[in-house]
Amino acid sequence: MQNQIIGLVVSNMVNVDFWKILLRCPKCGIKNEATLGQIKRGESIQCIACATKISLKDENGRVAKVAKQVQDVIDSLEKTVEKIGGSLKLK
Ligand SMILES: [Zn+2]
Repeated sequence: MQNQIIGLVVSNMVNVDFWKILLRCPKCGIKNEATLGQIKRGESIQCIACATKISLKDENGRVAKVAKQVQDVIDSLEKTVEKIGGSLKLK
């Protein structure tokens, strides 16, 4: 079944595979959580409400693309802080 990704929770800067993806169950619409790692590996989860199997396939690499963009923002943030003599370590 197609999943509907509705959000991304950046919870651990060290490892993007731990970032949480929020997605809606295609059958009952309940919000479920998966990790970016699970999506990268193309795993499936079961809906917490109705037990429908939700395929975590990353269509067109959409999730991977967003993760890359967030990482780029973190990188440029660190560089900007370094430029003004500070230090910011998020990773
Ligand atoms: Zn469901």
